[in-house]
Amino acid sequence: MNPQETICALSTAPGIGAIALIRLSGSDAENIFQKIFSKDLSSTPSHQAIHGWVIKEGQRLDEVVATIFRAPKSFTGETTIEIACHGSLFIQQKIIEALLENGAQMASPGEFTMRAFLNGKMDLSQAEAIGDLIASESAAAHKQALHQMRGGFSKEIANLRDRLIHFASLVELELDFAEEDVEFANRPQLVGLVDEITGVVEGLRKSFSLGNAIKNGVPVAIIGKPNEGKSTLLNALLNEERAIVSDIAGTTRDTVEDSATIGGIRFRFIDTAGIRDTQDTIEQMGIARAWDKARAASIVLYMMDAVDTSQEELKAGLKEIATQLPEGQYKLLIIANKTDKAGFDTNTLNQRTAGLGEVVAISAKNKSNIDELSNRLLEIVESGKAHSGETIVTNARHYEALTKASAALADIRSGMDNGITGDFLAIDIRRTLYHLGEITGQINADDLLNSIFSRFCIGK
Ligand code: GDP
Repeated sequence: MNPQETICALSTAPGIGAIALIRLSGSDAENIFQKIFSKDLSSTPSHQAIHGWVIKEGQRLDEVVATIFRAPKSFTGETTIEIACHGSLFIQQKIIEALLENGAQMASPGEFTMRAFLNGKMDLSQAEAIGDLIASESAAAHKQALHQMRGGFSKEIANLRDRLIHFASLVELELDFAEEDVEFANRPQLVGLVDEITGVVEGLRKSFSLGNAIKNGVPVAIIGKPNEGKSTLLNALLNEERAIVSDIAGTTRDTVEDSATIGGIRFRFIDTAGIRDTQDTIEQMGIARAWDKARAASIVLYMMDAVDTSQEELKAGLKEIATQLPEGQYKLLIIANKTDKAGFDTNTLNQRTAGLGEVVAISAKNKSNIDELSNRLLEIVESGKAHSGETIVTNARHYEALTKASAALADIRSGMDNGITGDFLAIDIRRTLYHLGEITGQINADDLLNSIFSRFCIGK
């Protein structure tokens, strides 16, 4: 990628549509487009659409509407021309060909957004949010991406980082006055700041599992013995015949996964093979896979028969879950299914399940109380949100950077507790700054120099 080049690409989805949009961006954009356009661009004001013909080899190719955004007031910060043409593949191809013949280069993936970042139109986290916004499949994912794009996430990081830069500059200044044994950086204040940043970083890290869930769907595992109605419940939740329902125990041999959007949140339901002791090797493999899948779930639904499951059986089932799944990483709901069966009695069920966990009684077959279950699922996700506040981390790269920042912060803290010297302290602070800066894209050491010189007048 060479930022000197003028780039072009089709910005609408590839294929045939009524209209297609071709984008051209770079210092030579106006020149290049003028060579293939019937009207005079120089008299067209910025941010205005102009109607005309694209001419190729002396022939009129298509009637288009072009909008010119002159630098720096454009998405990329460069002069950008958007050409709305008719959507045939032939026309799209020929216009792009004409632009290339006149000096434009084909844009690489993400290059328009990368230029926007390089030209200071947005920070890295905002640029990444654009990708998420385009890919968002549910209302919640859309909301998160918009929030991040507006800078909600990076503002918080940038602010913390600025305050730490101030301390970094003071600590590094001390190094210049090593012989005089002075302390410019107030240690208790630095400890206070490090603790504050650690708190925020940990909160953001915790929000990642929720953020990831919102972006990729909340994984919900449906577990239970064969024939308890897991597939039927999945069908009821999905409102379609996706999983196979049968009367023969152990027929759900593999895991089935499908997603449904409830209240704007996407849930990924994982119907597991019935979990029971078996000699059948294929079934055993299915069961092993079921547990593997279930380990990734943030919500586990344990299915039991509301009439026939004894308290001992339920206890044994829950114990198995507790040994197989990582503690504290999922929320468990006991689903008492088949409440439509003769002999069902709420009091008996309550007695059997007392103290064992939260129970939702349903009839998957009759679709009764499915709404209550859906609402509970939503509430669980919402309560996770309350836990992590407004800002939610959805990006794996950010999570990684936060994790590294967290380790560096711990090193600062333990170093200070042990009274390490300023030079080592400065290294750990720089590491923290680096990893926080990775998120927003501000990672040059010049920051530090600027801060030192802008705040102090040494030698005066
Ligand atoms: P799985 O093995 O746990 O996936 O169970 P299935 O969903 O295949 O269901 C096993 C049997 O139980 C089928 O005959 C279903 O029709 C039946 N079943 C499922 N849910 C209910 C329910 O709510 N009430 C009744 N009476 N039968 C149900």
